[in-house]
Amino acid sequence: MIVANELTMHYGATIALSKASFTADNRSIMGLLGPNGAGKTTSMNIITTQIVPTSGTTTVEGFDIHQNPLEIRNILGYLPETAPLYSEMQVDEFLQFVARGRNIPEGKIPSRLEWAVQACGIKEIYKRIIGELSRGYKQRVGLAQALIHDPKVLILDEPTAGLDPVQIIGIRKLIRDLSREKTIIFSTHILQEAQATSDKIVVINEGRIIADGTADQLRQQVGGGAVVRLIVEGGSEDVERKLRDIEGLKELRPEPTAIPKATCFVVSAGPGVDLVEKVAHKVKEHNWMVWEFTPYSQTLEETFIALIKSSLRKAG
Ligand code: ATP
Repeated sequence: MIVANELTMHYGATIALSKASFTADNRSIMGLLGPNGAGKTTSMNIITTQIVPTSGTTTVEGFDIHQNPLEIRNILGYLPETAPLYSEMQVDEFLQFVARGRNIPEGKIPSRLEWAVQACGIKEIYKRIIGELSRGYKQRVGLAQALIHDPKVLILDEPTAGLDPVQIIGIRKLIRDLSREKTIIFSTHILQEAQATSDKIVVINEGRIIADGTADQLRQQVGGGAVVRLIVEGGSEDVERKLRDIEGLKELRPEPTAIPKATCFVVSAGPGVDLVEKVAHKVKEHNWMVWEFTPYSQTLEETFIALIKSSLRKAG
């Protein structure tokens, strides 16, 4: 388990982290999601004991970053934003070198290498010079070096950056498989990635944690409930007036439509409101001719934007 407690990090006048607290549970994946400059890499550098925070602390499997940094380094594997590779070495030489540096007994090195090569899909480039590999393969070799000593905890900084779609699917599956026995934190600025891979998402913006939970819990946190896209015959003022009195209504957003004499609204409500039934009732009550009636849930993008906006409002 990883527990970050009120981490604050100042780089001169820049506040990279401000009292950031979060936890990553055992045998699960926590996605640290945030835009560029949010403080993701800084958080990971603190957890992996590369840098010391200005204040606050973190424990990894009970070890404290200030008291027991060496113990933490022994039990974690880290893939930084730019994979730490020696470009003049061959992949096999490099991984053997890392395995020895990690104090894996000589007799066990071949089986660990075989496992990492298989898991990371690098068999075909095993004898190649690292500097000559594509970005995707370099990333996989970086992941293999992070995994070679079978760490309990895995910290991955944007692990799929620069990979092609097939490689992305492969790495996501590998991360999911590994989470059956490891605690994993990975960072991303891609919403779909966080949703597809994490058990829990921690949203960070301008150094502050602004939300924490599953994708569904985040939606609820911003009051994200049902949404209905509606196109009916009638003038927009008249339709708007009639929709306005729906109980629990949150927003009525007009959208353009090419259908003559018709009006389009995206109608949204807070959680727990049976919006679909209420809009359907309005349609029946006013005997509207309907061109479109599409219910859907708030997307993660809409949730993310709402979270960022509300955190900026609170900060401002
Ligand atoms: P990205 O997605 O772009 O990698 P990030 O979320 O990982 O961003 P950080 O790299 O942690 O963000 O940076 C957080 C803030 O701290 C930024 O404003 C950045 O410019 C600043 N920062 C990071 N490292 C340093 C440093 N060594 N010296 C000064 N400022 C820094």
